[in-house]
This record gives sequence, C-alpha cells and structure tokens, in this order.
Amino acid sequence: MGILCAEIEPYLFIGKQGSGLLMCYDVVIIGAGPAGLTAGIYARSKMMNALILDSGRVGGQLVSLYPEKGIHNYPGFETIQARKLSDKLYAQAESMGCEIREFEKVNEINNGEEELIVVTNKNTYHAKSVVIAIGMGSFKPKKMEVPGEDELTGKGVSYILPSKEELVGKKVTMFGGGNSAIDMALIADSVTDTSIVHRRADFRADESTVNNLKNSAVKAYMNSSLVSINGTDKVESVTIKQDDKEIVIPTDLAIINIGISADLDDLKQWDIELNDDGLVKVDFDMSTNRPGIFACGDVVSYPGKYKQITTACGEATTAIFMAYKFAKKPYWA
Ligand SMILES: Cc1cc2nc3c(=O)[nH]c(=O)nc-3n(C[C@H](O)[C@H](O)[C@H](O)COP(=O)(O)OP(=O)(O)OC[C@H]3O[C@@H](n4cnc5c(N)ncnc54)[C@H](O)[C@@H]3O)c2cc1C
Repeated sequence: MGILCAEIEPYLFIGKQGSGLLMCYDVVIIGAGPAGLTAGIYARSKMMNALILDSGRVGGQLVSLYPEKGIHNYPGFETIQARKLSDKLYAQAESMGCEIREFEKVNEINNGEEELIVVTNKNTYHAKSVVIAIGMGSFKPKKMEVPGEDELTGKGVSYILPSKEELVGKKVTMFGGGNSAIDMALIADSVTDTSIVHRRADFRADESTVNNLKNSAVKAYMNSSLVSINGTDKVESVTIKQDDKEIVIPTDLAIINIGISADLDDLKQWDIELNDDGLVKVDFDMSTNRPGIFACGDVVSYPGKYKQITTACGEATTAIFMAYKFAKKPYWA
C-alpha cells in the first residue's frame, strides 16, 4: 500500500503496515554529522517534522576520527574540542524536536506513489523529501600497512587520539603531516613525550599550525617512513627509516593519522548521479538528479569545494530550504 505523503498531517500515524506504525516525515536526513545535524536544526526552524538517521553514532568525523582535537575555525568559538562541538549540535537538533536514530544504516531510497521510501537495516520510513548528508560514507581510517599494525591495534596502535588522561605517562608517536596530525601531536605534547613522523620534507598543514609545532617540545622526524610497529602484547617501539638509516623510537602509543578511505557505494544503489570523483553532483540549490532528494556536506563536490564544517553547515541550510519548498510547496515558492 502506498502512502500519499501529500495527504498526511505532520506527526499523524496513519495505520499499520508490516510490524510497525507508519508516519510520513517532511524530511528524512541521512547522516548525523555537522551537515545532517544542521539540516535538522533548519528543518525544525521551518516546522518540518524531521528524522535524522545515522549508521553509527551522532557526530560524524568529529567523534569517530578526531574527538579530542581542537577546532579553531568554527565561527563563534576561538577553539572548541571536536567532541564538544558535536555535542552542542546534537543537543540543539534534539531540543528543537528532531527525531534522531543511531545505528540505522540507510540501504535504499525508493520512489513511492507520491513520496520517497527510505529503507534502513531496521525500518522503513516514508518522506516527502530526503537530504543525503553521509559525508565520506562508511569511512575507515587509512592504514600504514606495516608489520605489527593489525596485530597491535587496540594494544597501543590507534587511529584516533585517546583522551589526555589516557596519554599521561605514555610515549606517543604520531604518524601524519596534516593539520589534524599536528594538532593531535600538540595535544599529546601538553601531557607527555611526543614525536611526529612524516614521510615528506615539509608538513602539509597551515603555517600557524606548523609554527606551533616548531615552538613545542614535539620531536619531528621528517623524510621518514614507518618500517614496523614492535611489541608482543602491547606496543613497545616503532622502527622508522630516515635517509636509509633505521631508527627505533620507544613508543607506548602509535597514533596513525594519514587520512580516511571513503566508502560511498550506497550512492550507486540510490541512483544518485555522481561526479568523476565519485561524489554527488548537485545543482547550485543542492538538488540531485532525483526529485525531492537533496545533498550536502563532504559527500557533495563541485569546483572550488572545500571540505570543512562551515561548508557542510552552509550547504545544509540551502538543502533544507529547497527541501522545504519541495515538501511544503508554500504559495511564494
Ligand atoms: C582528521 C580530520 C580533522 C578535521 N578537522 C577539521 C577542522 O578543524 N575544521 C573543519 O572545519 N573541518 C575539519 N575536518 C573536516 C570535517 O570533519 C568535515 O568537513 C565534516 O565532518 C563534514 O561533515 P558531514 O556531515 O558532511 O560528514 P561526516 O562528518 O562524515 O558525517 C556523515 C555521517 O553520515 C553517516 N552515514 C554514512 N553513510 C550512512 C548511511 N548509509 N546511512 C546512515 N548514515 C550514514 C556517518 O556514520 C557519519 O556519521 C577534519 C576532517 C578530518 C578527517
């Protein structure tokens, strides 16, 4: 039985289908990173009933990749820890009345009679519009692919920075050369002995960040590659190669921060048109090739795109404005 969203009042349950009661949302937002949460906040400010679904925990990359890192470029906060910014966005979306469901992966977005049908690993939802905000998809941190890495993961090898309390008294070696690797090395340096290993001669981070590193006690090994991570039950050291010379650095925590691999196969299943880079092709109004489906955040690409939190939030604002016009059809649209 199809459900005609156009005829349904917000929040009205309209009957039983399968094992659960169904309702029709004005918008279903896929992904609860900065883009999805901002979309939820804007949807509620337009009195749209909004459901946000995430395959993992709320917060996106901010909680799964760099919870301890300070964010220095989000307006309104000189510096805010990533986890705290995520908590604030979550609290705001929830207090405004968004329904948020964690650990629900969206598998399908099908066309109904006059609505879109979103199928997850747990439920089926009906919506007048959909906003795709899945960032890098089911992303995974990139690995160094060296002996000892897999065996010692969770035993001293980590892809995110543990809390400061957990770092005290441990020797930390960070791998990577971007802003986040340096930021995390500086956090570690504030409580413990820290080294950073980068395979190139120069860091690829902002000048101010590199200056902070130079003024810190972090020991930098440039032009260096990781040979192995050593230890039996836990990490004891790492071996690096610099100018054909092997150096062993005593280490308790080897933190790998060399980027993430995106997994965006879902988009192909959803018949969403993609650019050559595999990211979503949108019009200037964040619309995709499928009517009623909009996209925002890291999952979207266009010339000049800069993958940042503020960019994700701005695109979400536009996506929801267009979803509102599509779902509510105001007389002035
Ligand atoms: C190490 C690092 C440091 C960074 N530092 C900064 C910084 O200091 N300042 C800054 O502005 N930017 C920074 N960024 C970039 C910033 O994190 C991203 O631009 C931002 O997270 C994009 O937000 P998003 O909501 O588009 O995607 P994400 O944050 O990736 O969120 C997407 C969400 O969608 C969910 N999802 C994926 N597939 C599905 C599915 N099929 N069904 C349901 N849910 C799904 C994921 O679980 C995830 O929670 C950094 C990035 C990294 C990797």
